[in-house]
Amino acid sequence: MFVAILGQRADIKVRSARASGENLFTVLRSEYQWRKVRNKHISIESCCQMCDTTKELEVHYIVPWHLAPELRYDFKNLVTLCRACHFGFGHWRNWHGHNPEILVLCKFAQLQRSRLKLGDKDEENYDDEPISAYSIMPTT
Ligand SMILES: [Zn+2]
Repeated sequence: MFVAILGQRADIKVRSARASGENLFTVLRSEYQWRKVRNKHISIESCCQMCDTTKELEVHYIVPWHLAPELRYDFKNLVTLCRACHFGFGHWRNWHGHNPEILVLCKFAQLQRSRLKLGDKDEENYDDEPISAYSIMPTT
């Protein structure tokens, strides 16, 4: 029944709540609240802040909410990333990790994009290789 109403993610939450003895109502209420905040955030910040795509968008916590529960629904703690950038840059390719400098990286990527756009207009002044954000990703 919950799958039909709230989708697969909510069904996983319901199963885990049942397994751990959490209050089902609390779990579903927080899931509903998160969806409202998430959808509102994506309606405002509607493309990946790393690569600019509008496909497969996800909302990333700048400070993970298990470390700062009071920031769970705080728009200032959210950034829109596509699925690939979320995993690659938001979590450094490990869902247990997180990148505290994600906003700096997003700003860097945005600057690179505007620089490349300038390069399109005036190739002689912008003929060096663009720095890939991937090149500064930690290797371990
Ligand atoms: Zn992206």
